[in-house]
Amino acid sequence: MVAEVIINRSAKKLNRTFDYNIPKEMQDFVIIGSKVLVPFGKSKELEEGYVIGIKENSNYEIKDIAKIEDNLTDFQIKLAKWMARHYFCNVSDCIKLMLTPGTGRKENKVQDKTINVVYLKKEIEEIEFEIETKKIKSEKQIRILKFVKDNEGCTIPELETFTDTSRAIINTLIKNEYLELVEKIIERNPLENKKIELTKNLKLTEEQQQAYDKVEEKINNNEFKEFLLYGVTGSGKTEIYLQLIKKVLEVGKTAIVLVPEISLTPQMLDRFISRFGKEEIAVLHSKLSIGERHDEWKKIKEGKIKIVIGARSAIFAPLENLGLVIIDEEHDSSYKSETTPKYNAKEIAEVIGKVNKCPVVLGSATPDLNTYYRATMEPNQDDNNTGKKETIELLKLTKRANESSLPEVEVVDLKQELANGNRSMLSVDLYSAIEENLKNKLQTILFLNRRGYSTFIMCRECGYTVKCPNCNISLTYHRFGNILKCHYCGHEEKVVTTCPECGSSKIRYFGTGTQKLEQEINKLFPNASTIRMDVDTVTKKNSHEEILNKFKNENIDILIGTQMVVKGHHFPNVTLVGVITADSSLNIDDYRANERTFQILTQVAGRAGRENKKGKVIIQSYTPENFSIECSKKQDYEMFYKTEIALRKQLKYPPFCDILLISFNSTNEKEIQNLSANMFNYLKQELNEEEFKIFKPMPCPVDKIQNRFRWRIIVKGNVDEKTNAILNKALRIVYNQNLKNTRVSIDVNPNSMM
Ligand code: ADP
Ligand code: ZN
Ligand code: ZN
Repeated sequence: MVAEVIINRSAKKLNRTFDYNIPKEMQDFVIIGSKVLVPFGKSKELEEGYVIGIKENSNYEIKDIAKIEDNLTDFQIKLAKWMARHYFCNVSDCIKLMLTPGTGRKENKVQDKTINVVYLKKEIEEIEFEIETKKIKSEKQIRILKFVKDNEGCTIPELETFTDTSRAIINTLIKNEYLELVEKIIERNPLENKKIELTKNLKLTEEQQQAYDKVEEKINNNEFKEFLLYGVTGSGKTEIYLQLIKKVLEVGKTAIVLVPEISLTPQMLDRFISRFGKEEIAVLHSKLSIGERHDEWKKIKEGKIKIVIGARSAIFAPLENLGLVIIDEEHDSSYKSETTPKYNAKEIAEVIGKVNKCPVVLGSATPDLNTYYRATMEPNQDDNNTGKKETIELLKLTKRANESSLPEVEVVDLKQELANGNRSMLSVDLYSAIEENLKNKLQTILFLNRRGYSTFIMCRECGYTVKCPNCNISLTYHRFGNILKCHYCGHEEKVVTTCPECGSSKIRYFGTGTQKLEQEINKLFPNASTIRMDVDTVTKKNSHEEILNKFKNENIDILIGTQMVVKGHHFPNVTLVGVITADSSLNIDDYRANERTFQILTQVAGRAGRENKKGKVIIQSYTPENFSIECSKKQDYEMFYKTEIALRKQLKYPPFCDILLISFNSTNEKEIQNLSANMFNYLKQELNEEEFKIFKPMPCPVDKIQNRFRWRIIVKGNVDEKTNAILNKALRIVYNQNLKNTRVSIDVNPNSMM
């Protein structure tokens, strides 16, 4: 038998198979999906590879597979091939996502975590004889031996405590070969220290029940169907997830729940654990240690786990017998990977749902425009030939489940404030609302869509800004350490006080950051306690959690933060949310600027007044007339959707087409220009001009990062299998040129066009 093996290297030229002989003794074990070690090229070291096909014989003179390391399923290999085609990457890049973490070629191999446990080494009859014949006299030694006899596999500390003895005596018994120490593998478990109090299903409201029934039907019938569960924050989506999972477990199946990385908080996990216990739940996210991820994955593979909760890559969890996939906060951009393979977990969920014949539930209070479009279009509407024919069924929750009312939202015009002479970061209304809240001992969240102390430094005389020499983007001032920092490559510089261009000392920090806001709040409200959360304060493993717990448990008056404060937390005592400037996200260079603004304002407003206390939200803006701000004031998603979808249709943006970003980066400017021009001509020739709009190669908005030039070609059109084939061919042509300095990649509907 001959195996077709893909070598685990990112070199694009190696995205093909090589034949290897399967030695006789391995023939029962090597399957499609095996991770194997093989001799390759001149290297003395074995290379890692994956078997993606098996055949009778080969036309070449071939070597033997040296070793089998891990096995994937047939489906996983098919999925990896599908992904490589759709996300323009190597099959091996995709397979890596499906292997046990900590077993990769370049990774430090994860060691199992072990402890020493104690067993008897001599036969028990012999020991008892020695005790009877007084060969062993020591009371303590006898106590130890008797305890171990009844509790083989106990730990040394246990032994010491229960027998009231000491390590030295135990050691003597080991030395004299009465006892022996055995290494035992223990599982690292991120949920180890969780306490649980079991909760029961709540009685569903009528709306909840209707939504539940629709999905339950598909579970019962083993049918794939995609659902959008659309309902305001607090409308009881999570309760529906919990009850659907319960159903899935009852019929002997398993479930995957995806949540945005940042909302994978203990608060959120607690709700699942308190319903299902922690034994059958695995958690997967990037903050876990590699050892923890390794062990969670192993438990899943061994079939010990029924529910996997995790961020994007948990969609690849090797659960058997899958009965349900849930994607919470489905509009969140973290479901799209920004690194190779540049996959979208929602698309993968669809593939997985179809293969497992199970429903996929997407949940959101502010659905992704594409999702809502698919959920509201007629089955054969597809008037714009989007190719996205498969529709999603809409399930709607219109009320908050516990009858608490939505907060009152006020929009303050900052232009007006300025005209009235108010130069502070707080409008008069926001100031008095904070004051009022402090008086009533209620909590406030202030939200700022920025990070650092200020965004950039500019000379007011000549307009000079301090930019990164490697990346050509503005440096950000960080008060901590008094330095300027590049957010792309990490380059740091000392702060300048005079302009290097014109010598003027009128050099100023522009923009406002969380640190500056905190200072101002401390000045305005000297008696209020504040806590700040942004990328600078959130660095350690649990720090994000620590800040939120501190805010909640110590009843800190004001939480000041960036995006991180927006998602998934529940603070019963927060009644006021202030948005310092709503406009910053309107000015990003992206066709989704309105959508992002509406989403973020609505999510942040949802943080106010979630239990019986009435909430208030104050949004400050220079452009209060903008419809995304107006709609978030009314908390009216459907009105927002109508306006925005009409704009998208008119300007032809997703969902009415896909956007392809073909990126080039190179140390050699000439090479990048030539290559992108060639690619442009090739695409012009291959793609139908009526269906595709291909923009000329241009430098990216951030045109240099870490001394590599960056160019791009943007293509608008519907990407189907035919387009995929053309693009993959284009990439192969490039890779076959063996260019040393230039890299090319293709991203479909990327999060950012920078
Ligand atoms: P969402 O996920 O949509 O934000 P949740 O499921 O978290 O909503 O529900 C919000 C609050 O309402 C929670 O405190 C939850 O316990 C409560 N809740 C949900 N469903 C019900 C119900 N059927 N009866 C009573 N309370 C409910
Ligand atoms: Zn100057
Ligand atoms: Zn830089």
